[in-house]
Amino acid sequence: MSHVTRRVVLLVPLAAGVCGSQAYAQSSLKKVEETEPKATAIGYRHDSAKVDKARYPKHDVAHRCYNCLAFAPDKPADEWGECDLMSDRLVHRNGWCSSYKKKKG
Ligand code: SF4
Repeated sequence: MSHVTRRVVLLVPLAAGVCGSQAYAQSSLKKVEETEPKATAIGYRHDSAKVDKARYPKHDVAHRCYNCLAFAPDKPADEWGECDLMSDRLVHRNGWCSSYKKKKG
């Protein structure tokens, strides 16, 4: 076996394993519940239109997870996606929380 062939034999399965585990990790995340402490602490709602206006008077209904800097769905049109703040949960694209930061562009 040549040097290059041995390297390919060793690296290809390793790369496939890394990619496969990332895909598995994202698809295995649960959707966040609005009643979870991590969600209530930041006023998260699945629907930005249902945010408590008394608690968040400056909230803008146009601010939603899909146009927040922290939102990272697998595909742009996905209903649910990862959020930097809720690393082990998925948030709804129309959701909102008090840590909202508008995405540029
Ligand atoms: S940080 Fe952004 S993406 Fe995450 S829950 Fe709050 S508004 Fe949604």
